[in-house]
Amino acid sequence: KNENLDYSSKDIVPSYDWFQKDDSITVVIYTKQKNMNPELVIADLHSGKLRGEIIVKDYSYLLHVELSFEVHEEVIVQVSEKVGKVEFVLTKREPLSWKTLGQPLESHNSFVKCTDRGLCYRKCKLLSKENVTHDTRLFCLMLPPGTHLQVPVGHHVYLKQTITDAEIVKPYTPVASSLVSKFKSPSCCDKTHIFFMIKIYPSGLFTPVLDALQIGEYISLSNPEGNFTTLQVEEVEELFLLAGGTGFTPMVKLLNYALTSSNTLRVAKLMFFNKTEDDILWRRQLEQLSLNDARFDIQFVLSEPKEGWLGKQGRISSSLLSQFVKRSKCDSKILICICGPLAFMEQGIQFLQDLGHSSKEIHCFTA
Ligand code: FAD
Ligand code: NAD
Repeated sequence: KNENLDYSSKDIVPSYDWFQKDDSITVVIYTKQKNMNPELVIADLHSGKLRGEIIVKDYSYLLHVELSFEVHEEVIVQVSEKVGKVEFVLTKREPLSWKTLGQPLESHNSFVKCTDRGLCYRKCKLLSKENVTHDTRLFCLMLPPGTHLQVPVGHHVYLKQTITDAEIVKPYTPVASSLVSKFKSPSCCDKTHIFFMIKIYPSGLFTPVLDALQIGEYISLSNPEGNFTTLQVEEVEELFLLAGGTGFTPMVKLLNYALTSSNTLRVAKLMFFNKTEDDILWRRQLEQLSLNDARFDIQFVLSEPKEGWLGKQGRISSSLLSQFVKRSKCDSKILICICGPLAFMEQGIQFLQDLGHSSKEIHCFTA
């Protein structure tokens, strides 16, 4: 099933092998790709079937087998980043000697364009649900024990529910559990818990059903997707974030990443557009972050403020942006990220272009 390949040499097509010990099975995938990392590997071990997908540039390699014998439903993923080797370590239920790894399943050992590989879903348990504002909640989902999946910064996943006999899917961008996580010690749960900040629209199709999901119930979650890469933040000195409503969600991990991983960042500013003060997501945390980190500054802009609001008012405009997106040094490397309602993004991009910003300096989060 490799006919779609337009690589000139088959030498770069991944291959796999496997070996065993008394108590374990190790499947090794040679991706022939440098800079492999755990975010490029998605593994699902469920009901005796192993599905391992590896992203190699724009391509997806799939290992998909029905295993010969029973294993514990947990998979350890090991990635040798420099040599591009990925290992799946499985634990045998019985110390039997396996003659084969198992039977091939659909698309096993195939290497196709990512866009030609359908999305894969697994059921995640709702662990908690807490109010962020009057209409927005923070949902915490737990991946099944046999799944290895990490959502890269700026990427989204799809959640799927069956609503009156139809399967409905909508995209959502995971957030960190908090913006001021320095105060929380890292835990083993970081890799298995995924947090979503989701606004419930009473007349919406998907979100009222999601809101009715009870703790302990399950919802399907897809592989990640997205066109943002943290390479875009490399060497950036000034980061400008423009968010409208829940368009704040991709900014959360991006902000955490830029403030903790960049050596060059001097300034990170968020202009956050909402209707009213009550709609501002994580306001206290944003204010706390600006106190904790001198590089970070926040400005709130309200389109429907209540009487007494002394801050900025209105919608996204050229004058707001020209004051906000200002280089502090004329040759600073900058990145401007924008996310929110479609009209907000379209207008914002137009204003930024009119102000002379190149498309390389602007990233727009979309599905
Ligand atoms: P819908 O049924 O889509 O309706 C939404 C609202 O529009 C409702 O108020 C409804 O009454 C109104 N409406 C629907 N149709 C019409 C119409 N024809 N005319 C006028 N009004 C109409 N959302 C989040 O909360 N958090 C996220 O992290 C997040 N991430 C996203 C990431 C991406 C890449 C994208 C593209 C979107 C993201 N969204 C996010 C939005 C999310 O995917 C859904 O669109 C949202 O949850 C609404 O879904 P719904 O089915 O409940 O509402
Ligand atoms: P909202 O209706 O509460 O609006 C928030 C602010 O956006 C408003 O105060 C206003 O300043 C601005 N705005 C709204 N409509 C506008 C318009 N027509 N023109 C100019 N400015 C406008 O926003 P919400 O209900 O939280 O919706 C957030 C939107 O962000 C949704 O459409 C969602 O799909 C999108 N979103 C996209 C992603 C992504 O990655 N692409 C992620 C999260 C959310």
